[in-house]
Amino acid sequence: MKLASFVSILALATASPALADVLIDNVEGITIDEQGKVKRFVALVIDDEGKVAKILQSGDKKPQTDYREDGDGRVMIPGLIDAHVHVMGVGIGALTLDLSDTNSLDEALAKIRIFAAENDSRPWILGRGWNQEKWGLGRFPTAAELDSAVADRPVYLERVDGHAGWANTMALTQAGVTASSKSPSGGRIERLPGSQQPSGVFIDAAEELMRKAIPAPRPVERDLAFAEAQKVLHRQGITAVADMGTTIEDWQAFRRAGDAGSLTLRIMSYAHGPDAMDLISGARPSPWLYDDKLRMNGVKLYLDGALGSRGAWLKRPYADDPGNTGLPLMAEAQFRNVLVRAAQGGFQPAIHAIGTAANADALNAIVEIAESFPGDRRWRIEHAQIVDPADLPKFAQQGIIASMQPVHQTSDRLMAEARLGADRLDGAYAWNTILSVGGKLAFGSDAPVESADPFAGLAAATTRMDANGEPFGGWRPQDRVTREKALAGFTSDAAYAGFAEGRFGRLLPGERADFVLVDRDPLMATPAQLRATKVLETWVGGRKVYDAD
Ligand SMILES: [Zn+2]
Repeated sequence: MKLASFVSILALATASPALADVLIDNVEGITIDEQGKVKRFVALVIDDEGKVAKILQSGDKKPQTDYREDGDGRVMIPGLIDAHVHVMGVGIGALTLDLSDTNSLDEALAKIRIFAAENDSRPWILGRGWNQEKWGLGRFPTAAELDSAVADRPVYLERVDGHAGWANTMALTQAGVTASSKSPSGGRIERLPGSQQPSGVFIDAAEELMRKAIPAPRPVERDLAFAEAQKVLHRQGITAVADMGTTIEDWQAFRRAGDAGSLTLRIMSYAHGPDAMDLISGARPSPWLYDDKLRMNGVKLYLDGALGSRGAWLKRPYADDPGNTGLPLMAEAQFRNVLVRAAQGGFQPAIHAIGTAANADALNAIVEIAESFPGDRRWRIEHAQIVDPADLPKFAQQGIIASMQPVHQTSDRLMAEARLGADRLDGAYAWNTILSVGGKLAFGSDAPVESADPFAGLAAATTRMDANGEPFGGWRPQDRVTREKALAGFTSDAAYAGFAEGRFGRLLPGERADFVLVDRDPLMATPAQLRATKVLETWVGGRKVYDAD
């Protein structure tokens, strides 16, 4: 006892700057409690380590603290956690051309032309966010069309889902792609009709042909992008994320920020494949670093592509493309080998599976392998978008976590109906069904594929209606979740999905004081009001990291 208190006095004496305990009172506090229920409070005490010391109900005696802040009656909710983002993608996206708001090919070409003129020192024009479906084009765009906007510099633009890319002729030349280039396994070079000539669009693994020609960002550019990502996320009330596909360069940027004291986002990292896993973390997951701000939890694996580009791997052919079932990105044996290797090291696998065949293979592989690796593994399936109803009960086995993105449902519903047909939608974006068979959910956004805005996610999760209130009553409304479960999906359940429960995700004693002050009560607001929620302040570890003023 004596030694312990001596050590803690030493620790206090060397802690800098001097921290103290703070009472924030006069708030309408909301958290999810240990039982997964909503708990309300009126004040919160933060200790000198930036953790919650106490929450107070009305009528409780206010403790003596060094400082007191008046919450001005504002609503306090736990810092929101996005269980599936691409952190550097968010940052780079904020620094490159964003086509996600374009509604036609012509509008996109105009925007590309302007961006290229405004950024005339950039050797490559890079961007993302195009969607030929939204443009009503009925086909992919071509290199020649892109040449009409920019012909004198290489241009490469990722599709909105990150599973296809669009190059101009100069980019094709610099990458050395010609009519004799072969599509790699797990990918496809699109060709012009009736010819072998590459059209300019690359699907899934074929994107690597282009990506390797693009000069890699330098560390200073990565640091800039990461700082931008933290800003974008905090502004939306997000205090923690699961980063899905951390490369060694990403990890080094996170570490540089941690070492410099500028890491304010909590990152549960999933390495970009087994090689990145080895490079970043060696034989075991990393410890929690920088006061619970960074940990390498596991490994992100891609089992298939996306539905929009027909890269999702289905049990039966696409309704709008007979003969095409999409592609598995990993062979059966290879996939199982990687899972075993991850499990041996105690790494948590996070498996990207969109289509029915990919989800079936992921679920079956987990069930097979988990027999040899018992214990609390929290196997994750990312997206779990279209699951054969016959496979859904498997989520209950081995405590498998379905890490899903509510906004994908509202964005994708018409496309999903076209790709699958009306009679194959029973296991589509089946949030509540997965819960009801005993599976676990974690919610996220897949930013920058979608906006990171968690309030749009909460609204979609509870209504299955989009921002325009479409379709009225919700799309397959039996799969909505309650407000309580939606909030848990973006807080405590997202923390659990990353082995972070007890550290952050709830405003309860002992957890990090990560919270957001907002201008309305998300549990009382109408869906439209919920989408319009304004984040006033964002705090991480008892420190303010964003202020709307
Ligand atoms: Zn993703």
